[in-house]
Amino acid sequence: MVDKGSLFERAKVLFLTYAGPLGLEQKYPGQALTTRLTTPDKSIKYRISLGRDDGSVQVFPAYRVQFNDDLGPYKGGLRFHPQVTLDEVTALAFWMYLKTAVVNLPFGGAKGGIAVDYQSLSMPEKERLTKKFALMLTNDIGADTDIPAPDVNTGAREMGWMLHAWRMSSGHYDRGMITGKPVDMGGSLGRAEATGRGVVIVLLEAARDLGLAPEEATAAVQGFGNVGRHAALELGRQGTKVVAVSDVSGGVMNEAGLDLEALSAHVARTGLVQGFPGGRSVGHLDVLTAKCDFLIPAALEDAITAAVSRDIQARIICEGANGPTTQEAAEILNRRGVQVVPDVLANAGGVTVSYFEWVQNRQEFYWPIGKVLDRLSTKMVDAYRQIAERAKEARCSLRQSAYEIAIERIVQITMERGVH
Ligand code: GLU
Repeated sequence: MVDKGSLFERAKVLFLTYAGPLGLEQKYPGQALTTRLTTPDKSIKYRISLGRDDGSVQVFPAYRVQFNDDLGPYKGGLRFHPQVTLDEVTALAFWMYLKTAVVNLPFGGAKGGIAVDYQSLSMPEKERLTKKFALMLTNDIGADTDIPAPDVNTGAREMGWMLHAWRMSSGHYDRGMITGKPVDMGGSLGRAEATGRGVVIVLLEAARDLGLAPEEATAAVQGFGNVGRHAALELGRQGTKVVAVSDVSGGVMNEAGLDLEALSAHVARTGLVQGFPGGRSVGHLDVLTAKCDFLIPAALEDAITAAVSRDIQARIICEGANGPTTQEAAEILNRRGVQVVPDVLANAGGVTVSYFEWVQNRQEFYWPIGKVLDRLSTKMVDAYRQIAERAKEARCSLRQSAYEIAIERIVQITMERGVH
């Protein structure tokens, strides 16, 4: 399949390809199931005007796409990035809808964002923009309707600001209206590192199935934001040598293994991977095609194209980002025998601990870190095992298997709830 069309169009084609073997239209004739499953419930566009520090006003488009809430309240992050478009947010909301079904959480799927170069704003501008977005979202979100969370360029700080703004505008406390908050504002221990840890949990399960031990393996990580950094640190704790890392500024490589704590400190200080003295400077492509056993793409969509996929040397790719591998690339990798652990499973650790956070908020009773991490591990390993077994039986890819499991869960509820 050649990659054509917008991100959401391609996501839909992929979904329909994976849904094919389930024969939904034959099994449930006249139910318009494929259209119902691939059309968002609601797509909301906002205009946010920001008063800049210099007195000028700048206008940014923002979005929230609520894809489907048959499985529970809409759930998904907010991304602040110049590349954000309605099409991208729709595709990401669609994947959230599948992701929560893959790990069997009582949530639907949503996503939102602002098309803004967030990093270039001053701290007071960041706070004003984030709080203004929360105010605009007030009528569209809530603990029982739609629960935002962090995504690209947003984290605990932004979630804390949004909780406060929402409290001021709604007039009541409801900590469960947003997840990924600072721990002292009702966040969960372990949420910040949950996506990165979850990536490594399923990656090491897949490695075990291929007879690869973590302490004998090497890894490359593309992206050193919240997901990539925590995944790299966790791999290091498991004894895997991380030989290459990149971020927007470029890559750094050291075949003897990068000192990840030192790299983290360097990035905390300078904001960039580049210039790290513990390795040599390389390009983005060198990191993706580095000689290693594991590759974790943890940046944006479409990082691994058909051209890149031919040069990838890793044996396992574990998708920390959403949609990092194009479909054409996935087919080439499959033919080359490279195992791809799909995004809808691989990065589901974040939303899983978001679910734990939401549960803790509803009870106002907070769990110790050990309990959070144990439950995260159980959830991820169970989901991986179920997907891997089905893939083995059907001799299909892990992505095909994960999609089939998600679609079956979604269809079951769609049929149970009826149409009227
Ligand atoms: N933005 C994250 C994701 O893509 C987390 C979503 C959440 O915790 O709701 O999975």
